[in-house]
Amino acid sequence: MRKYLMFKFFVLLFGVISTNIQALADEVIGQQQAFTSSDSPQINQVGLQQEWVISGAVYSLKVLSEHDKAAAQVKLLELQSTGLTLNIAEQYLLNVIRANISDIKGQEHKVINWLNKAILLEPSLAKKQLDSPLFADTYLLLSKVYQRQGEDKLAFDNKKKYIKKYFAHLKQQKELRVNRLNEKYNIEKKHEENELLTQNNEIKQYALTQAESERTQQHVNIVIFIVAVSVFFLLLVRQFKIRRALKLLAKTDTLTQLPNRRSFFNSGDAYMHKALSSDKELSILILDIDNFKMINDHLGHDAGDSVICNVAALAAETMRSRDFFARISDEEFAAILPDATIEQARAIAEHIREKVQDSIQDNINKNSKLNSPVTVSIGIASIRDVKENFDSLLHAADLAMHQAKVNGHNQVFSFTNENK
Ligand code: GH3
Ligand code: MG
Ligand code: MG
Repeated sequence: MRKYLMFKFFVLLFGVISTNIQALADEVIGQQQAFTSSDSPQINQVGLQQEWVISGAVYSLKVLSEHDKAAAQVKLLELQSTGLTLNIAEQYLLNVIRANISDIKGQEHKVINWLNKAILLEPSLAKKQLDSPLFADTYLLLSKVYQRQGEDKLAFDNKKKYIKKYFAHLKQQKELRVNRLNEKYNIEKKHEENELLTQNNEIKQYALTQAESERTQQHVNIVIFIVAVSVFFLLLVRQFKIRRALKLLAKTDTLTQLPNRRSFFNSGDAYMHKALSSDKELSILILDIDNFKMINDHLGHDAGDSVICNVAALAAETMRSRDFFARISDEEFAAILPDATIEQARAIAEHIREKVQDSIQDNINKNSKLNSPVTVSIGIASIRDVKENFDSLLHAADLAMHQAKVNGHNQVFSFTNENK
């Protein structure tokens, strides 16, 4: 059996050698020399085992050679005449094309020769490219041809090689698809991550803008609140001042700035009640400018006002701090003198009278139009003599003041029970 296999191997070797010699003879007659080879530098780079690019012309010629030998023969001749430069893979395929064209019954040795020539180039080609059907077909054809020759073992081996390549190619395709899918998945994942990142950034940016606008709004609200409170406070202060001024105005005589008649009468009862309940002295003084009509007539109303103011000032400065002095009508003034006996009231009244007589006389009597000096008549009354009420006490002082006028002006008159 072993001897038989050895014998068969040598027969096969002989067959291959003889078909190679035949193919060599075919080349000599001019089928191959028409192409220039670009494989020399590439063969030197065998280790790289790169995948070569197959030109469209070579590819379509291979397909044609599988179906129409005659047409393929013509095309091959045309291709040769162009002087095309072929790379190592194209040279491989050209040998396969020639094998296809030679694939006629009885010429199996030629086919085998061309195919073996192609196979010799395999070390310069990448495994991946050789596993592709375009190149792996070589082994299928080889298997068929050997089968026709009855070389079952060789046919089987080559078929096996073809199937191995076929599965390797399938595996490669599968890996390629998986890689492509992975790549696509990674790209999509990256894209989604980027989108997520962009959305997150947008959300953060929005949150920042929102926080910023809320802060600004808060500041604006605080400013508005402060302004509103300030305005409210200012209005309140203004209102308070106005009310106080109005109150003061209601109590004050606008010409002399002394308390007015209403204020005087409002306070009177309280002073009287206090004095009576604590059994203390209290006197009332009523002062009227003498012949004031004449002053008005001679010097004019404004000068009359000025006299009223001067008399008011002189009387006020003569009063004690606890006394309540007011202008109660035209040129008439009144004072409440707490703790003052009728004598003390007289002393104060005399003091005022003399002051008016002296100072206003100096200022106004110099005016030639005025014949007599500015003087005042003063009436005084004490709660020792009139205890009923404030009005009665005031009336008593008024009576005394009129008595002073009757007695000749410029004097002080006291109301007493004796002269009532
Ligand atoms: P008697 O000595 O008896 O008091 O006489 P009289 O002229 O002072 O008294 P009379 O009441 O007759 O005159 C008061 C005058 O005072 C009348 C009025 O024209 C004037 N008069 C009233 N109020 C004012 C005022 O506010 N300013 C001025 N300038 N005159 C006033
Ligand atoms: Mg008068
Ligand atoms: Mg009067």
